[in-house]
This record gives sequence, structure tokens and C-alpha cells, in this order.
Amino acid sequence: MRLVLLGPPGAGKGTLANQVHEKFQVAHISTGDILREEMKSGSELGQEAKGYVESGGLVPDQLVTRLIESRLSRKETSDTGFLLDGFPRTTAQAEDLDKILETNGIPLEFAVLMEAGLPVIVQRLTGRRVCRQCGALYHIQNMPPQKQGVCDRCGGELYQRPDDTEETIKKRMDVYYEKTAPIIDFYAQQDKLKKIDAEKETAQLLKDLEAFIKDFDDASDQDQNAARS
Ligand code: AMP
Repeated sequence: MRLVLLGPPGAGKGTLANQVHEKFQVAHISTGDILREEMKSGSELGQEAKGYVESGGLVPDQLVTRLIESRLSRKETSDTGFLLDGFPRTTAQAEDLDKILETNGIPLEFAVLMEAGLPVIVQRLTGRRVCRQCGALYHIQNMPPQKQGVCDRCGGELYQRPDDTEETIKKRMDVYYEKTAPIIDFYAQQDKLKKIDAEKETAQLLKDLEAFIKDFDDASDQDQNAARS
């Protein structure tokens, strides 16, 4: 499986990617998570990224593309497959991604656009809580932890991302429409775009995604059989 998850902030890319990772053991590569880890460790890269991330802007293309290139070049990533979450976010990143995947001989299978309207996005983002320790995702109404403020999985402290406030969400949405939405056409032109209604329950989204994966695998098998006969 080699997929990109596209969609506005709050569409549920991270939640769906976590489930796919658990079910199929593919590498879940989230540039947002990687950047937050770098910021937490205080690395040079993290310090460089901090201002952009916290204000809801985009980290420069070169910096994130370098991060992705190193992850995609790992042998385990080409062995297990991958699910990219939050990358690409600009057309330049999408073009670079194609080049990196071609160099590594692991072409993208398809991109899934997760569509959700603004009221749902704002409700999801303002209620989102993240475990400081293991990164598990919660929502104060939709997916609350058993004990308020504490991660069910590891007992870590839950926090609200500083960029999940209403003001920063507005900026992130503007950035999404201006910089990221053009990628939808980029993949449509390559005939690699699938869409799902991301306002549905996560369990249903996983089923929709699995149906795409099955269709893709069936079509590839047919192509291989036709090539052999
Ligand atoms: P996310 O966790 O995907 O919502 O990303 C959080 C923030 O990290 C974004 O608002 C950006 O500041 C930064 N970021 C994540 N992925 C990228 C990317 N592909 N390009 C530029 N900035 C990114």
C-alpha cells in the first residue's frame, strides 16, 4: 500500500491513518507529527519550524521534503508500504514526491481526498486533544478518554495543540485553500484521485478506504494476468 491522504485540517487524516497503520502495519508518515517531535526535542530543524507551525503557516518546502525523502528511503518503508498524512501540502511538494518515489522504485498508488465542511472541521479541531507522550488522538466529545486529561493508552497527559485554536484554524484553512487544494487537480490529472466523505464515522471511513485498496489490488492483478497471457 502506497497512499497519500489529502484534505483540510480536521478532516480526520491522522485518525484514519492510525487505524490503517494498526490494521495493515504500513508506515504512517505524518509530517506534522515529525515536526512536533523535532520541536519537542529542540533540534535545529524543530527551532526552524516552530514559528511556522504555531502560527498555522507552512514550513518551507525544502525542509519538509528533506524529512520525507529520508523516511521514504528507509528499507522498511519500501517493504511495508506507506501512508502519507499531511504531505504533500503544495504542488512543489507533490512534484518532488513523485520524483522521490520514482527514484526509490515505489510509485504512489493513489491519493485519497477526505472532504469535510467547515462546521465539522472547527468542531473537530477545537475539541481535539493529543497525548504528550505517545501522540494518541482524542476528542472531548466524539472520542473522550476514560479519565479526563489522561491518555487511555499510556497514562500520558493530554493537551490541546496551540494551533487548534479558532484563530489559527482560520489561518490554516486559508493556507489549505490557497496552497494545498491545487494538489487535488494534480492527482486528478494523473487519474490517481479518490474521494471520501470524511464527515462519516471513522469505522465507515476505514471501510471506504479498504474498498479503494481492494479495487486497486484487483485492477493490478488483472493487469498482471493480461501481461502474462
Ligand atoms: P498537521 O499536524 O498535519 O496539521 O500539521 C501541523 C503543522 O505542521 C502545519 O500547520 C504546518 O505548519 C506544518 N506542516 C505539516 N506538514 C507540512 C508540509 N507538508 N508542508 C509544510 N508545513 C507542514
